[in-house]
Amino acid sequence: MADTQGKVITCRAAVAWGPEEPLVIQEICVDPPQKMEVRVKILYSSICHTDLGAWTGVNEAERAFPRILGHEAVGIVESVGEGVKDVKEGDHVIPTFNGECGECRVCTNGVSNLCERYKVDPMKRLMVNDGGTRFSTTTNKDGSSSQSQRVYHFLNTSTFTEYTVLDSACVVKIDPNAPLKQMSLLSCGVSTGVGAAWNTANVKEGTTTAVFGLGSVGLAVAEGARARGASRIIGVDANASKFEKGKLMGVTDFVNPKDLTKPVHERIRELIGGGVDYSFECTGNVDVLREAFLATHAGWGSTVLVGIYLTPRTLPLHPMELFDGRRITGSIFGGFKPKSQLPNFAQQCMKGVVKLEPFITNELPFEKINDAFQLLRDGKSLRCLLQISKLLKK
Ligand code: NAD
Ligand code: ZN
Ligand code: ZN
Repeated sequence: MADTQGKVITCRAAVAWGPEEPLVIQEICVDPPQKMEVRVKILYSSICHTDLGAWTGVNEAERAFPRILGHEAVGIVESVGEGVKDVKEGDHVIPTFNGECGECRVCTNGVSNLCERYKVDPMKRLMVNDGGTRFSTTTNKDGSSSQSQRVYHFLNTSTFTEYTVLDSACVVKIDPNAPLKQMSLLSCGVSTGVGAAWNTANVKEGTTTAVFGLGSVGLAVAEGARARGASRIIGVDANASKFEKGKLMGVTDFVNPKDLTKPVHERIRELIGGGVDYSFECTGNVDVLREAFLATHAGWGSTVLVGIYLTPRTLPLHPMELFDGRRITGSIFGGFKPKSQLPNFAQQCMKGVVKLEPFITNELPFEKINDAFQLLRDGKSLRCLLQISKLLKK
């Protein structure tokens, strides 16, 4: 049993104190896990565009500071709260921002992965059990001392900290022999993208696909479509440097909107007579969503919306446009039910069905987290892996 069990742990975390303010690495206190909660030592965490969106605070309603961001990670269980049966101290786990309680009406049917109790909720900042936080600090952002103040949670996870507390519904046990760094990718980006292609769109062999936005999520869609045997995968991105990486993930054609004098969808309809079978929007830009919709073939084209849209604008479509027979749907966490389906997906990745290595483009120590944010913001990284703490061999 860990000698920290049942005690408050003092450790380092990267705390976000306000929109766009550099994260501050500082000491925080992490309470023991309560009933059906798990305390996890985070080993590696990377940064997803959704962290960037929460940090910039563009959507004012979602703002909550001070807060610990981060949701794409891998760690090891330090201790579990009362009633937790499926993980124990020492297990290797990945946190999941979209949980699975296993008991609600959604979890017990096969249709959706949006658990009634623990589905992703960008507004959520407190634990379900008692409406409190498990994080607190007595240090202000300038390093001065303060009364104990609470630090908010983020996206069911909060992984930019040496220790975090998660609802057990948001903890997925993985094979202890699985490569830890790569497994962190399954915590969000790669599962989201591959799952959008496999589960939501159900891409078929020999079909055509267009992927808008070639960050980790979009490239994971491409990798998923490649693994399913798609015949053409068109990658669209305004950053030409993403195209090189795209070739590794099966992207066959590139379209840079900056090089065109016509709308992207017209170019895609020219490339693939009439339009693609599937398109995926992975930029979070509403105008791009319209291009993705119009890039599919009338009659059967299917658009999957993956990006997170921080704007209050609504769908950029006239209802009559749906009479052309194109469909549009959203996908959260690639449609995967995390606890019941991710372990199998992890096995497939370990067998090489999906290539994980190309997604980790940078590695930095925890202290350099602000540099890692900047790399993503500048479009210079796919995933920058931060080493949050070290795995101590027993
Ligand atoms: P990223 O920043 O690494 O990649 C975004 C890519 O889109 C970049 O390559 C950028 O150059 C490109 N882009 C941006 N605007 C563009 C435009 N107008 N035209 C063409 N290309 C453009 O981000 P990521 O981590 O891959 O995440 C992608 C999106 O997916 C984000 O909106 C993120 O919040 C969302 N996301 C959704 C889920 C989910 O479950 N639905 C999960 C994870 C991430
Ligand atoms: Zn994410
Ligand atoms: Zn549920």
